[in-house]
Amino acid sequence: MDKADLVLHSGTIFGCRGSDSVAIANGWIAAHGRFDDLKPLVGPRTHLIRLAGRVLMPGFIDCHLHFMEAASAAAGVSVERCRTIDELLNQLRSAAAKTAPGNWLRAFGCDEALMHDRRGPTREELDRAVAKNPLRLRHQTLHASWLNSRALNLLGLENSEARVPGGATVIREPSGRLSGLVVGMEEWLTNKLPRVTAAELEARARNYSRELAASGITAFTDATVRNGPAEVGAFIRLVATGAISQQTSVMIGPGHIGAVDELRPAAEAAGVRLAGVKFMDVARWEMTRLVGAIGEALARGLDCAFHSTEVEELEAILKAIAAARERLSPEALENIICRIEHGGLIPPGYPARIRALGIWVASNPGFLYYRGAKYASEPGLVNYLYRARSLAELGIPMAAGSDAPVTPAKPLHAIAAAVCRLSAEGYELAATEKILTKDALALFTTSAALLSRLSAGEIRPGYLANLIVLPANPLALKPAELINLPVDLTIVGGRVVFERGRPVIAHSAGESLPFA
Ligand SMILES: [Zn+2]
Repeated sequence: MDKADLVLHSGTIFGCRGSDSVAIANGWIAAHGRFDDLKPLVGPRTHLIRLAGRVLMPGFIDCHLHFMEAASAAAGVSVERCRTIDELLNQLRSAAAKTAPGNWLRAFGCDEALMHDRRGPTREELDRAVAKNPLRLRHQTLHASWLNSRALNLLGLENSEARVPGGATVIREPSGRLSGLVVGMEEWLTNKLPRVTAAELEARARNYSRELAASGITAFTDATVRNGPAEVGAFIRLVATGAISQQTSVMIGPGHIGAVDELRPAAEAAGVRLAGVKFMDVARWEMTRLVGAIGEALARGLDCAFHSTEVEELEAILKAIAAARERLSPEALENIICRIEHGGLIPPGYPARIRALGIWVASNPGFLYYRGAKYASEPGLVNYLYRARSLAELGIPMAAGSDAPVTPAKPLHAIAAAVCRLSAEGYELAATEKILTKDALALFTTSAALLSRLSAGEIRPGYLANLIVLPANPLALKPAELINLPVDLTIVGGRVVFERGRPVIAHSAGESLPFA
């Protein structure tokens, strides 16, 4: 038998009673057991890490985030913590003071629903805070931006012949003047702003990947509907250079289903998985076209993921999946995955239909923690928001994602929220939907691995060595303690990619990850 590359020993091995050590070879878990029994696997080149009683867990899998958006938000000015207009303006003012006049100031993370003032900033306020720079302040949900006068001017939005893309809304003040808030034209704006250089993109990706690793994330799925060949190419480069250290899965937009056979070889060679197709706004799709697109995606071996936060969307999704399923053979039906993203609102009657169609719910328990204050003001709906227990009891398969940058990619926060259903401010949201810590952990480990089609999420021989070390067993902790639990070590494909207290871990480029 091959000698191990890495042996972690003398700790608690999560889910493996009686074992205190794990041996890793070629990126995979080779064995677990008592350290004495694994010693034959230790050779002269084996690296040993002493757990000293700490807990070795499967690494977290984030089933839904937006990597590039999150990396760029992390590189800009964050106003996520601001809860009043004054705090927001102060933050923007001090960021502007550090930005050369004339250069764009990019900020992220304002949401009027979470502000005590229950409104966003006015154009006049933004102009006062940021006078010498064009400003784009992105909404926390990534669906809108606030622009100051300099930005509106540079973009030509006040010209009488200004043309905005279809579906976009430019909000006006009562006087008819632009308010600075523009909705549904995010891609248009991104394309108009100065381009980010490849080197800057790589630096951002490297920083953000490290941030994910620090939260214990060893694999993620990028669920950006805009993804096509160019974006897949960017992921391939970032993974190949080692800028992204996580196991990376990428969804593509429905317009690119036909390109998948061409994209797949290069992606798989780099260890990037083409995860599926992301469908948005399906309530606006023509039903025949939607059913056709689902059928084509499934036939090409792609999973189908549907953004769903409203009832009309959910209704259209269920109808379309039911129709698409009717055209498949029983064998084909066994291996497909259709998934509802967010499942923000699932009213009575829908869970049984979701169950009957074998659909997964990729939920966001972190929304309860980070955005719960918003839901607390919608008492009529609270019982149907981000449901967990009632869906699980029906047998609906569930996993979870952060939707970063909409909420921070911190699985331990989301796990705590799934257990206690408390927002950061202390609002309790539908206590009947609380789940046990072990089930909340599964949303980011075992179940997440099944949904992501990775041999991971468990400590088991033959599974990927995607692991984390925690100072305490999460099963023994209260939600508040889970939120404060640091991650000591993160291992992806047998390589240590993060160690708490050590600034940066050298990365060998070009060494591709084992692929599940
Ligand atoms: Zn999303």
